[in-house]
Order: sequence, then C-alpha cells, then structure tokens
Amino acid sequence: MPNLIVDERDQQFVLFELLEADRLCQKPIYAEFSREMFEMILTEAQKLAVNVIFPTLVQSDREGCRLENGQVYVPKCFRQPFKLFCEGGWQAMSFPVESGGQGLPMSIRTAAHEWFGHNFSFMTYPGTLEGAAHLIEVFGTEAQKRKYMDKMISGQWGGTMVLTEPAAGSDVGNLSTKAIRRPDGTFRIQGTKIFITAGDHDLVENIVHPVLARIEGDPPGTKGISIFLVPKFLVNDDGSLGPRNDFEIGKIEEKMGIHGSSTCLMNFGDGGNCYAELLGEERQGMKVMFQMMNEARLGVGLQGLAAASIAYLHALNYARERLQGSSLLEFKNPEAPRVPIIQHPDVRRMLLWMKGNVESMRALALYTAYCLDMETTAASEDEKERWLGMVEVLTPLCKAYCSDVAFRVTELAMQVYGGYGYCSEYPVEQFMRDEKIASIYEGANGIQALDLVGRKLGMKKGSYFMNLLAEMNKTVAKCGGMPGLKDLAEDLQRAVNTLGETAMFFAQCGKAGKFLVPIGHAYPFLMMMGKVVSGWLLLWEAGMAQDKLQTLAGEKGVELADKAKSSGFIKGNRDAAFYAGKVHSARYFLRNVLPEVHAAASAIKTEDLSIMDIEEESFAF
Ligand SMILES: Cc1cc2nc3c(=O)[nH]c(=O)nc-3n(C[C@H](O)[C@H](O)[C@H](O)COP(=O)(O)OP(=O)(O)OC[C@H]3O[C@@H](n4cnc5c(N)ncnc54)[C@H](O)[C@@H]3O)c2cc1C
Repeated sequence: MPNLIVDERDQQFVLFELLEADRLCQKPIYAEFSREMFEMILTEAQKLAVNVIFPTLVQSDREGCRLENGQVYVPKCFRQPFKLFCEGGWQAMSFPVESGGQGLPMSIRTAAHEWFGHNFSFMTYPGTLEGAAHLIEVFGTEAQKRKYMDKMISGQWGGTMVLTEPAAGSDVGNLSTKAIRRPDGTFRIQGTKIFITAGDHDLVENIVHPVLARIEGDPPGTKGISIFLVPKFLVNDDGSLGPRNDFEIGKIEEKMGIHGSSTCLMNFGDGGNCYAELLGEERQGMKVMFQMMNEARLGVGLQGLAAASIAYLHALNYARERLQGSSLLEFKNPEAPRVPIIQHPDVRRMLLWMKGNVESMRALALYTAYCLDMETTAASEDEKERWLGMVEVLTPLCKAYCSDVAFRVTELAMQVYGGYGYCSEYPVEQFMRDEKIASIYEGANGIQALDLVGRKLGMKKGSYFMNLLAEMNKTVAKCGGMPGLKDLAEDLQRAVNTLGETAMFFAQCGKAGKFLVPIGHAYPFLMMMGKVVSGWLLLWEAGMAQDKLQTLAGEKGVELADKAKSSGFIKGNRDAAFYAGKVHSARYFLRNVLPEVHAAASAIKTEDLSIMDIEEESFAF
C-alpha cells in the first residue's frame, strides 16, 4: 500500500469516473485546466501530505503550543511545512486568479485538502486564513482588499474567525463584545472571546481577526451583530506594519487533541484602544459570518473524512500484519498456524463498516464540492438555484453526519488495533482525540440537526429536499435494472421513501402545533438522512463499478462482484479488486447499516417525548 492517508484510487474514482469532474474543463471559467492538470495537482498534494505534513503529526501533538510574553508559539515542526504549503498556493486554490489564487474548481480543492486534513492541527493555520481572506474578498471594500487580502492569500498574514464568548457559544446572538464608534468611521472593540483557533501564532507576520461585536446602541440578539476586521498589528498606508493593536492573548487552552493548534482566549481593548474596521454593513454580521461558517462546516466535514480515512487505512494495514489466533476453519487444531487478524470475521466486519463509511463520506464531500462548482458554472438562474439547494441540504450532513461517523471510524480503528490501539506508541489514539472536536466546533452537531430540520427541509417550500430525493430515485431506477444490484436498489428505494415520509411527518407535526416532535428528534433524523444519502452514493458507485467489472471481464463473460471471487477473476487484477470492493462496500452498507433508517423512522413516528417529559430531578437527584 503506497500511503496510509487517502485511498488514492478511490479518490480518483469518485472525481473522474463517478462525477466526471474533468468535464468542468468544458466550462469557460475552467477552460485552461485539463484532467492531466487536475491529476498532477493531486499528485503534488499527495507528495506534500506524505513527505512534509504527515511527518509532523505526532511531533506536533507532543510539543503543542505555548504562550510566552504575550506571543503564541506553535510546534517548530510546522514552520517549514507552512512555508511550503503557502509557496505552493494550496491555501488559495479556489480563489480567482485576479485575486492571487489559482481559480481551481472546489471539487479539486476539496480532493487536495483531503490529503492534508489528517493533520488538522496544522491545517487550522492555512484553513483559517483562507476563510477570513474569502470573507474580505466577498464583503470587503476595495481598500480593505488591497490592505489585507493579498497578503493573506499569499500566506504572509493569517486570519481567524472570532465569534465565541463564555456566554455566547451556540447562542451567538447573546454576545456582549461591543464596538464603540469613532468620528473617523473606525471602531474600538471591547470584550473577551474564547476558544479562538489560530488566535495567535508565530507562522505569520500579522493576523487579521474578523470579530463579531455589537455596535453600542444596536438591538440585542443576532439582528444587532456586526463584524469587524481587527488586525494584530495596525497597517500603515504604505502597507508596512504599524503598532501592536490593543488586545492580548489571555491563555491558550489545554485540549484533548489537536495540540498543535493554538486555541486562544482573547481580551480585546483592555486599554480602550483596540482598532477595528467594519466589514460589510452594520448589523449584517451574521449574514457575513454565515458565508464563512458554511465554508468552515464543509471544511469540518472534510476533517472528519480525512481522520476516518487515515484511521481506516492504518487499521487495515495493521489487520494484515498482526498475527493472532488461527483460522476459524481450523479451530480444533492447536497446531494450526497463527493468521493475520484480517482473516477473522469480526475484524472483517469492522473493516468493511469502516470502508463503506469512509467511501460514502468521500463521495459526499466531493459531490457537495462538485455541486458548488456546478452552481458557479450554471448557465441559468434556475440551474444555479438547483445546485445551491443541493449544497444547502447537504451541508449539515457534511458537517455533522461526517464528523460523528468519522469519530466512530477512528474508535473502531482503535478496536482493530486491540490494546496497542489504546497506547500512544501507535497513532490511532491520536486520530480519535484529534477528530472529536469536529462534532463540537463550527456549530455543535445538535445545532446542525436543528438547522437541517428547522430550516433546510422547508427551504423553497421543500423543493431543495425534494430535488435530493429525486436524484436518489434516479440511481434507484438505474441500478434497479442492473444484474446483481436490483435487490440493493429496492433497499435504497424503501429507505428513500421512509426518509421522505418522515420529513412529511415532521411537517404535519409542525402544522398541528407539535413542534417538539421534530425538534426533539432532529438529531436522529439527521443521522437517518445521512445513512440514506450514504446508501445512495454507495449504490451509485456500485452501479459504476459493476459496469467497469463487466467491461474488464470482457470475453470471459459477465463478472458480478459476488461471483468474481470464486471465479478467481480478482486475484492479481488491481482494477477488478477495486471495483469488486466498491460493490461489496455498497452491499454491506445497504444490507447492514441502511436498515437502521427504518428503526429510526419508527421511533420518530411514536412521537415519544420522554426527553421532555422527564423531570430534571429525575435524571439523577
Ligand atoms: C478547539 C476549539 C476550537 C474552536 N475554534 C473556534 C474559533 O476559531 N472561533 C470561534 O468563534 N469559536 C471557536 N470554538 C468554539 C466552538 O464553536 C463552540 O465551543 C461551540 O460553538 C459550542 O459552544 P459552547 O462550547 O459554548 O457550548 P454550548 O453552546 O454551551 O453547548 C453545549 C451543548 O449544548 C447544546 N446546545 C446549546 N444550545 C442549544 C440549543 N439551543 N438547542 C439544542 N442544543 C443546544 C450544544 O449542542 C452542545 O451539545 C472552538 C472550540 C474549540 C473547543
């Protein structure tokens, strides 16, 4: 196996066989690219990931970050990778060329970043600067773009997103940081923010902080929130750095994972002179920040995929090497040779569960990025809206479903390693620790579920959700006519119907004033929808793989994945093994995971509200 980070073959399959992302090159804005260029970029991403970024994973975890005399220092081993990352322009892949980026499609950017995402501590630095620079690109004035954006895009300066306060985490509207208006049109910020990723570090000369605050006199709640650019060092008219701005890093958090990422408590304006510039319009802070948060949510989903991918490949590698026990078929023979644990049925169960989930998450991340590309290149407003709608309904799944399932993948990887997995001598415990944060930040997963059920399902009178169901039904229709996949298509059809019925049921509950039913069951719904969408993507892939298998079999006759093993067709044939593996991923998932959808739907339909009926004292007195 060439690397244990990303299954390169599967990534290529999704991009170029399933989505045919190279066809984006027919669109005028991507006309200068070709499939060869996309492949070359991904090869370079792989080299950077394998040779430069991966080697810092363990060392950065051990070294962590430190705060000395008001300055945060990140692990030393990040310095050279950050330099190479920014010189390679990886932080600006999808920015327009005119802004100093490379103008690449999001699907290619997402695939490249899948290679880097396993080291999420490292990626927080280029990731936050990319998000903040994009915010300025969309909402900044020309002067702000000139002043800040160019240096951020080049990686010379960093960026962050500064929302959270002790009493304003999920409830962002409750923030108390205030902005005081100055006669010259600038503002002064006062308040304390917590948990700010990359809030300070020594990889860049300056950091531009987009900070949410309320202008004095503006209304309470989210309606009164504005957003400001607060640079670490003020910037002179000639672009050189001026004095240090009036804010301090109070401390850096001691965390369970991502130790190489500096998570900062920031005190703004203790001296009454923290300079800030309005970004966008007054009281539009949430709208502006939502753009960044949506991107960040897709980024967190990608973090999940990357963590799951590296955990799965490590577990697979270990299971092939670790000798323990004898073959099941020789259980009566004490002299039987020890076998690699991959031969034990229960280990295979764990591996195939991980494989199917990693592959469906990869398909989901790349498909959602592809939807963004289709939206960018759409020829009509209707088409644009259709693709945008797909992104809207899939974003909570990318963020919450992927991060939660990914955590379970990392946990199962530890299980495959047995006792060694629990020890820091082996890498899987770090994968698990680093991944856990993904279900908490960028909107905790419970909040994502409320967003899905309370907002996304009903968007445009439910048409966005219905369009997704229609896409899934197309795959059912196609695979229903394929040898070996008919039964799986029927399974998916039932699950899609159940999903649609459950969404309708929520709507009826809403009309009947029973709001607590959809609210109380929002998370189980998100997870069931994630499973249906995963089942759909895996079946879509299986249909493609089945076709390819039959083509490979050629004159030897029709080879179905489940027969190919016994016929000996797979042995030594990498492509055939890959395609057969895709069909097995789909079959396992649709047969063993998808049925959970019906159990979840039955539970929802009972309208059980024990969660609200139980007295708080009764949880435990
Ligand atoms: C390592 C790390 C990095 C971070 N990076 C950043 C950053 O760069 N910038 C930034 O601004 N913030 C950042 N955060 C903050 C993060 O976004 C918040 O921790 C997160 O939004 C949750 O807020 P909270 O911690 O206050 O939890 P709370 O809001 O107190 O939530 C606690 C629990 O209650 C649930 N809950 C709360 N309200 C509701 C509700 N109305 N309905 C249902 N459930 C609810 C939540 O889902 C959660 O399970 C970071 C946090 C960490 C730990």
